[in-house]
Amino acid sequence: MTTLPPRPSFPPRSVLFLSTEVYPYAKTGGLADVSAALPQALRELGHDVRVLMPKYGFIGEKKQKIHLINRLQGIEYKIGDREIYTNIKSSAILTQKTRIQMYLLESEEYFQRMGLYVDPATGKDYSDNDERFLVYALSAFELCKRLLWKPDIIHCNDWQGGLVPALLRGPLRNDPFFKDTKTVFTIHNLAYQGNFPATTFPKLGLPREMFAPDGLEFFGQVSYLKSGIAYADAITTVSETYAEEIRTPEFGCGMEGLLAKRKRDLHGILNGIDFLIWDPKSDINIVRNYSVDRFLAGDFSAKEACKKDLCFAMGIPYREDRPVLGMIARLSDQKGFDLLAEIVDKIFEADAQLVVLGEGDKKYVELFTKLQKKYPEQMGVFFGFHDNLAHKIEAGSDIFLMPSAYEPCGLNQMYSMHYGTVPIVRKTGGLADTVIDSDAATSRTRPTGFTFEKYDAKAFWKAIERALKAYRKDKNLWHEMQVTGMKRDFSWDRSAVKYAELYEKILSEQPVKKH
Ligand code: ADP
Repeated sequence: MTTLPPRPSFPPRSVLFLSTEVYPYAKTGGLADVSAALPQALRELGHDVRVLMPKYGFIGEKKQKIHLINRLQGIEYKIGDREIYTNIKSSAILTQKTRIQMYLLESEEYFQRMGLYVDPATGKDYSDNDERFLVYALSAFELCKRLLWKPDIIHCNDWQGGLVPALLRGPLRNDPFFKDTKTVFTIHNLAYQGNFPATTFPKLGLPREMFAPDGLEFFGQVSYLKSGIAYADAITTVSETYAEEIRTPEFGCGMEGLLAKRKRDLHGILNGIDFLIWDPKSDINIVRNYSVDRFLAGDFSAKEACKKDLCFAMGIPYREDRPVLGMIARLSDQKGFDLLAEIVDKIFEADAQLVVLGEGDKKYVELFTKLQKKYPEQMGVFFGFHDNLAHKIEAGSDIFLMPSAYEPCGLNQMYSMHYGTVPIVRKTGGLADTVIDSDAATSRTRPTGFTFEKYDAKAFWKAIERALKAYRKDKNLWHEMQVTGMKRDFSWDRSAVKYAELYEKILSEQPVKKH
């Protein structure tokens, strides 16, 4: 009989988790999935984790089925020479296992809108994003004080939460309420920096000396991301490889100097999968459920039914022997669509099918619209954000494509493997840390997919060719790869322990010299 290793125990800590998107309240990308799952995993380790996010205009609408109650009313801020009033609503993420306390910042002025960061009407960032996320940061402190709830840790995510560590080191440095509070700043994507003109700085109420190259000044601008990097007690990013990559000019987006300087405090912790939402055994979005046990018994019929259902949903004919290649991503250059554009005809010439779900860049909308017209039997595309379809693609595709130029962690390759869908990925960031190529396999580490190194269409095509060949010629290797991927442990428990250890580490360190 095998015994499970004992679960590490940690002193219970109070953690305020700041994220501007949390599933199912609001989602534009992976951050929303992480911000729902990580607090739950930390809660299970015994921490009192509470999440603060903005209440966007669409949150609480009838179709969203989210329950909100008033918690704090009429909190006032002075932004420039204006007075802003905000409220805090209370809600909860309830699962079979845990309950996560959610606080939602309500502001008629700043958040009662349909977009999170970008105005859907213009496709451009809201011009007052500097003030919006300043108020969001300030509200974190107000919330704690008014609830008389002293957080041991404020865990901030991405540029939208980047001002919090600076405010704590600056105007709040002598505030006894936060005397023992430490900050963690997690970078989910270094390319989104929240940079604003220097005229933003006086609004922030920070000491002048913080507007400097070793502070939050970034080539004459104010950078909220840099503020997080410069002033947090610990910095994390979402995979070990990305934590190394961002210290180089190629991936550092201009922040590599500061990141290299803070190397000791920078940690790579891989994201996990929320099995309550992404599990083929129980997924309510797919036509038939399945598990690795069925695969091991040689029964692939449920996955095949999912493929059929996917083809139907995407309006392409189903053929058992024709592989379906799937892709779900923001339509942006980061995701490698330019590589795909160069070789996409070859995919169709090789008698494969392609399904794409995404929203974003107009040039890629045009590309896929054109391709869909040219190959109506082989190409299915849906433009927009569609959660149900995303699950159908993970389950129904044979192969999943992620040729990203860079990928801090990437969740879809992990979802794919867990659904028995074989990923083809570029070897970067979290993709490099999670997918084992068939050529790199050893007797101890079996392959889970196909990888390529150089950001180049030819290299991408070579990987696709290898995958198509394996799919058609070597069903045994293929099934082995599916099963190996499904058995990989991508649970959040492992990563949550690493975050908990990091919290303990910084809480045990002497307070750093305040600015
Ligand atoms: P990123 O955060 O860079 O967008 P990730 O792979 O980390 O990429 O996470 C993307 C998440 O967003 C996944 O859960 C994916 O399924 C989801 N997603 C992306 N685009 C869409 C879309 N158009 N419709 C539904 N879900 C989407």
